[in-house]
Amino acid sequence: MKFTTVSKGDKRSNDIQTMMQQYLTEFDLIHDAEEPDLVISVGGDGTFLEAFHRYVHRLDQTAFIGVHTGHLGFYADWLPDEVEKLIIEIAKKPFKVVEYPLLRVKVCSKTGDKDESFLALNEATIKTPDGSVVLDVEIKGERFETFRGDGLCISTPSGSTAYNKALGGGIIHPSLEAIQLTEMASINNRVFRTIGSPLILPKHHPCILKPMVDRSFLITVDHFTKTYMDVDSIQCQVANEKIRFARYRPVPFWNRVRGSFIAEGKG
Ligand code: NAP
Repeated sequence: MKFTTVSKGDKRSNDIQTMMQQYLTEFDLIHDAEEPDLVISVGGDGTFLEAFHRYVHRLDQTAFIGVHTGHLGFYADWLPDEVEKLIIEIAKKPFKVVEYPLLRVKVCSKTGDKDESFLALNEATIKTPDGSVVLDVEIKGERFETFRGDGLCISTPSGSTAYNKALGGGIIHPSLEAIQLTEMASINNRVFRTIGSPLILPKHHPCILKPMVDRSFLITVDHFTKTYMDVDSIQCQVANEKIRFARYRPVPFWNRVRGSFIAEGKG
């Protein structure tokens, strides 16, 4: 099996990365940063997002696993003191694969020649540096509302515990193929009206956001941000692609939610 590691870059993560690479190659695994079967992220969820985007072009051939040296661990669910056990599991056992849904975002330009498409593991957000965002929200081909406010967040089920949660969105189990649309400070008065609640959309309900006022937009996909001019529409839907996690033991999602937000430790 071919593997690679991605480190957060701090000393602790780098030490764990070096140790894992050394032991795994001694167990006859091949270190291959170009075409790995397994990507081991060492850091926090932010590091895992980086690892995901580094290998997003080969999701069907690569599985991911995270060792967490940060303070939260939604994607990184092995602790530093379990690394030796993990090395033996990787070396000796074929892994089970657990798949989570992703978000497909397409930013279409007015000229049609600069369209860009992304996969998000956590979410995409749409904001503007120029006043309020004004967007027509279309769901499954029908106009739903006009949104005015700070912005919109469209998250995956596994991203529902990240930015989405801070915006009052619901936590969605990643076995559900859905995306969630959450408002950021919508303007609601006698003139302007939005639904005000997070919307959870199934796979066959794409959502198209159409700018009603010419603005520059700040569009984030997970941890990176880009500025766009002349945006015609932003199309969001559950992606056909999925992320594949290498599982050597069960890690129940609700235990992770409880461990991160309610109780000390991992649940
Ligand atoms: P960051 O601002 O350095 O860290 C964001 C925090 O979100 C970190 O504590 C990170 O955990 C945690 N996180 C990431 N994915 C998560 C998930 N699926 N569930 C629960 N927590 C999660 O940014 P970053 O490290 O580059 O990560 C980018 C992410 O930050 C975005 O995808 C967005 O979800 C999140 N974000 C959150 C807010 C907010 O909550 N108000 C605002 C902006 C962005 P680690 O410490 O383990 O890395």
